[in-house]
Amino acid sequence: MISSFSFYHMRPDVVESPHCARQDSLRGLMEESGLPSLLVTNLKNIAYLTGFRGSAGAALLTSREAVLWVDPRYTRQALEEAHGVQVIEERKGLLTAVGEHLKTLRVRRAGYDDAHLSCADFARLERAAGLRVRFVPSAGLVERLRVVKDEGEIAKIREAGRITAEVFQEVVRRVRPGIRESDLGAEIEYLMRKKGAEGVAFETMVASGPRAALPHARASSRLLGENEFVIFDLGAILAGYAADMTRTVYMGEPSRRIRSFYNAVVEAQEKAVQSVLPGARAGDVDTVARRALAGRDLARFFVHSTGHGVGMDVHELPRLARGERTRLRTGNVVTVEPGIYSESFGGIRVEDTILVGPAGHEVLTPAAKDQWVVE
Ligand code: ZN
Ligand code: ZN
Repeated sequence: MISSFSFYHMRPDVVESPHCARQDSLRGLMEESGLPSLLVTNLKNIAYLTGFRGSAGAALLTSREAVLWVDPRYTRQALEEAHGVQVIEERKGLLTAVGEHLKTLRVRRAGYDDAHLSCADFARLERAAGLRVRFVPSAGLVERLRVVKDEGEIAKIREAGRITAEVFQEVVRRVRPGIRESDLGAEIEYLMRKKGAEGVAFETMVASGPRAALPHARASSRLLGENEFVIFDLGAILAGYAADMTRTVYMGEPSRRIRSFYNAVVEAQEKAVQSVLPGARAGDVDTVARRALAGRDLARFFVHSTGHGVGMDVHELPRLARGERTRLRTGNVVTVEPGIYSESFGGIRVEDTILVGPAGHEVLTPAAKDQWVVE
């Protein structure tokens, strides 16, 4: 039922829109899970399934229909962006409207994303739907589809990766002792936008000296010093898709020990990248990186997992971590990012975003790794 303030609009399906295909794939998963309907509240999942990229909305998929509820701020945007859904403008409260709609559909079971719905919203939903609808926690269904990227998604990540690599190569020329971490961070973010990115996919990390030993340090007001490492972890976001890349540079004349550490990390990363193939187990890529570092007696300094999926989220499935048995598939996009950290030398990490292609891998963040010494 549509409230008196709402209006109804069926957008004609646009030919070749990937969203209808995604909705159909999701219907397949819903059927496997015995779900006649699924409420989608994670905004990235809504964007994935419909194309709508506003900051508030709720979507419901059943075997027969797809409905998107938005508030009046987003009506026009939803009508422009969304494909394959009925758009309903709702002034009362999105979850109340969804609940009332479910009641009229007479469905008995409705899946909902228990990882992206507050307790208050869930209570509203239940109240409006009445006692006949049973809500089933179903987080992760859409995410399972998002793991395999289609051509359009790959093109966006490839472009985000190209911008990311280009920005790094420009900014690294300005690296010298005395410059502030946060100035380099700001420069990176500015250049990403100048080159056509929507912005940064995550807060840019610029960590020098002892701060490089912190795997997730943000850019601070620290001045870069002589004879130390600086880690840059950056990623542009473009049309909703992220890239993720890390490079490490050294300021000054590196000692033999420092050189061997850097080369060991690059070697571990490149070996692990070579092992990214369709059919390989995600955990095996992690093992390759770990073994390579162990061969140089550095495995104890590698304190995180080797990588993660990238797409609409910077961290998504699959995880490239110890014991992960998932097999990589054509269309997966993952990072490979071994690193070593110690208070004695700071930290070194090298990361690329990698596409799993039918015949092997493609590096989507093509920035040089061999120009790492700044003198
Ligand atoms: Zn990163
Ligand atoms: Zn990463």
